[in-house]
Amino acid sequence: MDTRYIFVTGGVVSSLGKGIISSSLARLLLSRGFRVTIQKFDPYLNIDPGTLNPYEHGECYVTDDGFETDLDLGHYERFTDIITTRANSITTGRIYQAVIDKERKGDYLGKTVQIIPNITDEIKRNIVNLGETGDFDFIITEIGGTVGDIESTPFLEAVRQLKWELDKRALSLHLTYVPYLKAAKELKTKPTQHSVKQLQSIGIQPDILILRSELPIPQHMREKVAQFCNVSSEAVIQSVDASSIYHVPGMMHEQNLDGLVLDITRTDHINEPDHSAWNLFLQKLETAHRTVRIGLVGKYVQLQDAYKSISESLIHAATYCDHKLDLVYINSENVNDDNVEKTLSELDGVVIAPGFGNRGIDGKLSAIKWCRENDVPAFGICLGMQCMVIEYARNVLGMTEANSTEMDPSTPNNVIDMMESQKNITDKGGTMRLGAYSCRLADGSVAQKAYGTGIIRERHRHRYEFNNKYRSLFESAGLMCTGENPETGLVEIVELPRLKWFVGTQYHPEYRSTVLHPNPLFMSFMKAAVEYSNHK
Ligand code: GLN
Repeated sequence: MDTRYIFVTGGVVSSLGKGIISSSLARLLLSRGFRVTIQKFDPYLNIDPGTLNPYEHGECYVTDDGFETDLDLGHYERFTDIITTRANSITTGRIYQAVIDKERKGDYLGKTVQIIPNITDEIKRNIVNLGETGDFDFIITEIGGTVGDIESTPFLEAVRQLKWELDKRALSLHLTYVPYLKAAKELKTKPTQHSVKQLQSIGIQPDILILRSELPIPQHMREKVAQFCNVSSEAVIQSVDASSIYHVPGMMHEQNLDGLVLDITRTDHINEPDHSAWNLFLQKLETAHRTVRIGLVGKYVQLQDAYKSISESLIHAATYCDHKLDLVYINSENVNDDNVEKTLSELDGVVIAPGFGNRGIDGKLSAIKWCRENDVPAFGICLGMQCMVIEYARNVLGMTEANSTEMDPSTPNNVIDMMESQKNITDKGGTMRLGAYSCRLADGSVAQKAYGTGIIRERHRHRYEFNNKYRSLFESAGLMCTGENPETGLVEIVELPRLKWFVGTQYHPEYRSTVLHPNPLFMSFMKAAVEYSNHK
């Protein structure tokens, strides 16, 4: 069938969850047997979010093909099991760069290069190109930002043109907010009406409205919205706050969102959706009554979106272990050898977070030492793994000044050092070791048992690595390198086999955990945490 295009925009306020709605719709269409992908346009000028502080933009997600992207791509993958690529995440910066590169090459010789048509054509090209691969029945394109923002104007103009050109093969879905005024005890639809007017003034008539609200929206109110906004009343859908984002596909299906999309785009209803695997997960999520308490030690804890993939991976694993997750965010800057016992002793497992730079490192080292000495399940990810190595060097091998050259370029014991391939790189954007690489697992290791195979592929985002010069010293003192890249010998995993569960990975397993396929290493960690909580 010809590819259908669904454009998702947002109005009234940001943070309404366009990514969750897009992911939920993709899930529903996939469950009906369609081939689907999701694409996100971000209106900022950075080429990618890789150079942004997590406080600005939450976590930076990494694709298999090594592109640093918006955290919504993580939701897309977790909901759908689709492997996204650089084609799924586009910023204004990339669009402008492509147009300016073409201008310099002479592609527009003699012509003035303008936002319309050149920038809008480049945006359209990036949308339609995905369709032209022939790989997808539906392409869901999420436009970041809020209607009315200056930055998103070219994207919306491109959507307007495509809707006109593609006619029934294109659909506009607009997500808005219906606030509840406590003093008046009323839900208010006026902001939605204004937002739709704004969209209409750009020339886009929405086909479906999704109203986000804290409380259920009465039918008569939805009918009023339909009437004011030229949308049929069954196409006004509510999205009431849910206890878990993973309930949203079901909530959307109950209101026939997927059926509507098929009808509006004149698509045959080929199958009734099969939600059985998804519902099994939800059933476990709802019925788990025991709790497992995991601490996440990192420096970006004020903004929990900074660790989105880790917290979601922990939820997946806890749910499949029939437990509710109680995730305690611990600011590594506040942890020290004096308070570490008090801070961590109630936990069943500890994750040491990834990160960059010196701030909060001492707290991570204190937490690792305490877990190691008290045999509490500990999981170090990227910088967390590097800290496990540094802690072991300092406190077990007696190299008191051991460090990563990221933290101390003149350390006498550079147990973590900059990768050789990184040493001549000066540009900061997109130049780390990024994306999926193979890793060979040692027989009998925790990792090998967890994955149940000898070779895995996981995603990376780092410049520094375990210094192989020290490998035999560490191994003879008990810290084993149980995963390595088969081509380069780069150490990917360290483990302390004499402890119950003490594993650090240079890679980021959290980028590959989905509702239907939880990450095996997170599962193994969670089992150990549950076991530990039972025998504490
Ligand atoms: N800062 C470390 C490095 O660049 C770790 C990066 C990370 O945790 N993602 O190697």
